[in-house]
Amino acid sequence: MGESGGDPATWLSGGPNGPNRLAELIPIALHGMATGITERNGPIPSGGPASVAATLATSGATHHLPKSGLGAHQALTKYATLLAAGTADPADPTCAAHLHCPPLAVSVAADVVASALNPSMDSWDQAPMASELEAEFLTGIAHLCYPHAPTPDAVVTSGGTESNLLGLLLARETAATTIHPVCGANSHHSVSRAAWLLGLPAPVVVPCQDDRMIPSALAEALAPLGASAVVVATAGTTNTGRIDPLEDIARICRLSGARLHVDAAYGGMLLCSDTLAPRLAGLDLADSVALDMHKFGWQPVAAGLFAARNATDLSALTVRAEYLNADDDTEAGLPDLLGRSIRTSRRPDAFRMAVTVGALGTEGLGALVERCCTTATEVNELVERHPALESWGAPELSTVVFRPRGADDDLVARIRRTLLESGTAVIGRGSLPSGPDGAPRLWLKLTLLHPHTTAADYVELLDQVVATAEAERGVTAPQSPVAS
Ligand SMILES: *Cc1c(COP(=O)(O)O)cnc(C)c1O
Repeated sequence: MGESGGDPATWLSGGPNGPNRLAELIPIALHGMATGITERNGPIPSGGPASVAATLATSGATHHLPKSGLGAHQALTKYATLLAAGTADPADPTCAAHLHCPPLAVSVAADVVASALNPSMDSWDQAPMASELEAEFLTGIAHLCYPHAPTPDAVVTSGGTESNLLGLLLARETAATTIHPVCGANSHHSVSRAAWLLGLPAPVVVPCQDDRMIPSALAEALAPLGASAVVVATAGTTNTGRIDPLEDIARICRLSGARLHVDAAYGGMLLCSDTLAPRLAGLDLADSVALDMHKFGWQPVAAGLFAARNATDLSALTVRAEYLNADDDTEAGLPDLLGRSIRTSRRPDAFRMAVTVGALGTEGLGALVERCCTTATEVNELVERHPALESWGAPELSTVVFRPRGADDDLVARIRRTLLESGTAVIGRGSLPSGPDGAPRLWLKLTLLHPHTTAADYVELLDQVVATAEAERGVTAPQSPVAS
């Protein structure tokens, strides 16, 4: 390889030759990716887990940890093709089960540079500009969440799960007594898991109406707990995208002295849209907020953020490690990064988030959020007009919850799996209290995070759901031979 010589599998991504070496290897990886995408030709490979396992088995790439390597070119081609052919691709409009977004190319391009240079965010001497950029970006996020607070702050997390853990952790560390988590029946499973991890009592669960926490029920739950409670409200539930009545909840928390954390992992980026931000009214009354830019925000995983109204609350994360943030280094002016996370080594995830906001502005991001919410409203209208479908309710964010009329839970579950296994569509499911008795029933859901789709992209999918329902009904309930 002349000047850049040696085995390409041992080339480095940094240093003076890094860019040239990446310029040689990245096209090979992208070529493999393109080949795989053509092979797949749909939102997900067809045939389910057995077929994916068989593809890998016949590829010759399954020798656990091969003793001798294929070399960079062959390995990149083979594995990139396999991954792209076998991926669930949220850039396909019909891959819409989860809060799993199609990343923006600009963010991924930025991430190549971040990966190549590999700043690690646990000490300034590993990440001089990355830490400065991160601090600048996080100040912006803190003020986005808390426009009127004097000293807000924010940190990067691995996602809503870690952010909710931090929300409860800071509640525990700032409280004088044992704290009691209180959350809605609509809350994310990571809330009770965080309580478990932190050794806190299992959360008191407040009932919901239409997947929103009922304020009067919260007041009742707080009565015996008072200031020992930390309430977790949700702004954008995972099942339906509903937003809890944040202003009412914040007022009730104030009255009882309870701390408030808002899990806005899904809905938080509505703050970027002037027309949608009012739906989050009251968010800035919370003591802390979780938001995820790997949902609305179109970042590759992971892009979690955690904002605190009072920067001092975050001092609970302070920790000393002589080799990373010695007192004398900190006194000499080296920023202490270790206390900005519960992790040690940490990727510069804020870099691609900052590049994305730098490219689009919050306005541009807000417009993409609006696009998704509009599409969801329109798709829900299609559902309501469809004679064979029923809607769970009008979307508040970008989640459309529906099912074929008269379908029981078993049928709903089978429709989802059938579409998944045939590689036709990736649709979600959610169990929600339904009907007059409020019994939990299973619904299908489309979580629309594709920022360039319109309702027209989902017409065929809705018909496929109905056709699948009919075919599945035929399987389990064959027509009586005498009926005709
Ligand atoms: C996605 C989500 C989470 C979990 O976030 P991760 O980023 O997957 O850790 C928590 N709460 C809500 C409401 C979510 O939508």
